[in-house]
Amino acid sequence: MEHKNIVTKIEVYSYNELTEEDKKVVDAAKKATTTSYTPYSHFNVGAAVLLDNGEIVAGSNQENAAFPSGTCAERTTVFYAHARYPEAKMLTLAIAAYADGHFQAKPISPCGACRQAILEYENLAKQPIRIILYGEDEIYVCPDGISSLLPFCFTEF
Ligand SMILES: [Zn+2]
Repeated sequence: MEHKNIVTKIEVYSYNELTEEDKKVVDAAKKATTTSYTPYSHFNVGAAVLLDNGEIVAGSNQENAAFPSGTCAERTTVFYAHARYPEAKMLTLAIAAYADGHFQAKPISPCGACRQAILEYENLAKQPIRIILYGEDEIYVCPDGISSLLPFCFTEF
């Protein structure tokens, strides 16, 4: 038997170290937390994606009394982005969370279902979507896309 390790490449930044473009995407994700509908969890998640046409599309989590009917911020965002701009490729996706009066100190990462949804749009565009996971203390950037968060994923490119 042989052991193999999976290496996930993540870059760690402070907000001031981000490029101006990345700051815009992060700021849009943070702003989107104000549009969350979270009467049950009170955990507001915002996401924003920069498209190759220059547009930034943002979305937030939307809860429902029938829990499976709700949607995470990440899926709200990528579904809306593709519905609105079906020809555009997604370049960078940022995620932020706000609860108890402040943004989360540590980076927040997407759930498994959202990782799979993000992968779908990477496959469609045949290129990775950079992922920025925002935290007040530190920010994680996945330059290689969702494969850093979804190892051994089925991918066509
Ligand atoms: Zn999710």
